[in-house]
Amino acid sequence: MFSSLKKIIHTILHFGFKDDYANDVNQKHVVNFSYLVFCFASVFLIVMFSQPFSPLVVIVSILSLILACLGLRYNYRGQFSRAQILMPVLKMAQVTILTLFYFGSDSGFHFLLVHVIAYSFIVFRADQRFVKGLIVVIAALLFLMCEYLSLKGLYLTESKQSFMLVSVFFFIALYFSIVINLVMSRLKSVNQHLRVLAEKDELTGLSNRRKVLADAVNIFADCVINHDTCVFAIVDLDHFKKINDTYGHEAGDFVLAKVSAKMQSVIRTTDKIGRYGGEEFIILMPKTKLAQAELVMEHLRQTIAGLTIETEKGIIIPVTISIGLAPITPEVTRYEEILASADKGLYAAKRSGRNRVSVSPDFQD
Ligand code: GH3
Ligand code: MG
Ligand code: MG
Repeated sequence: MFSSLKKIIHTILHFGFKDDYANDVNQKHVVNFSYLVFCFASVFLIVMFSQPFSPLVVIVSILSLILACLGLRYNYRGQFSRAQILMPVLKMAQVTILTLFYFGSDSGFHFLLVHVIAYSFIVFRADQRFVKGLIVVIAALLFLMCEYLSLKGLYLTESKQSFMLVSVFFFIALYFSIVINLVMSRLKSVNQHLRVLAEKDELTGLSNRRKVLADAVNIFADCVINHDTCVFAIVDLDHFKKINDTYGHEAGDFVLAKVSAKMQSVIRTTDKIGRYGGEEFIILMPKTKLAQAELVMEHLRQTIAGLTIETEKGIIIPVTISIGLAPITPEVTRYEEILASADKGLYAAKRSGRNRVSVSPDFQD
């Protein structure tokens, strides 16, 4: 029931156009929604005041409805700034005329001007400050005018007055709840998008240095708290400079992306990998003993050595990796010590001929 309501609201917000800016706080939707609510309110007034017939309310509402359809058309056709401005002008005109000349201040109809103020704050950008300020001031002045200059009861019967008051409350509540919901959900998706950007390495698609080191801190802390074992590994592509020099930097990038994707697919789902910098990577293996980690890393080394990387020009680039690894020990107090130890393992792997896995000399018996 709740999800179908959400679906209906989504359809209303996106009515008439596609959402091209999935990660933007899209003001177009708020404008669209404001017009639709306005049209609905105008139809509501036309129906309510056609029996008994109140010419002023019906004529003003029909005119408002026609102009609102024009505004919606502007919005759908991409003439956004016209649509943006027409909405508050229409709303202020309709509310003020009807309050001053028909409903009176007791109906609470002029409280609908709150929409105009909320709308201005959401829909106008920072560079439209002047228009935003002007509309807010005019809306506030019109509210005061309606409150103090209009007659109290005017033409509405007491029951219609209270019905009007209740309707105004629900219109305002509906408008605010949907618009706030829209803005919040859009902010959430922007945040999510920014988080991914901040944690991802663009070339390889793996976690970047900041993220993988943050993961290292967390895994290290978990290990210490739970008295678990864990192993950190540093992976480095062999003779990568030569690959760049022989095939070009672009081919080097291509190799980095291919090797990264392969490494990501080979490690276990519980392990984490990230780009440490250049052609170096970190692999974090929580709840893993050294012997087990050696097996996983050996499998990784063999997979990369057997990988066929073919460029667009049909050139096959051979690539191998060297891996150094080190486990957590009771003496270790900072995660950086494990990484430094793994780096010693990497150095040993390079020295003994590359394309191999070496445990840090700190842990060799
Ligand atoms: P070793 O086997 O001892 O690791 O030798 P190596 O050539 O791999 O190591 P070295 O540190 O001498 O060179 C690393 C090279 O990686 C140098 C640098 O230009 C290249 N490199 C670093 N980041 C990137 C990158 O993002 N793209 C490309 N194409 N090359 C990169
Ligand atoms: Mg290297
Ligand atoms: Mg290196």
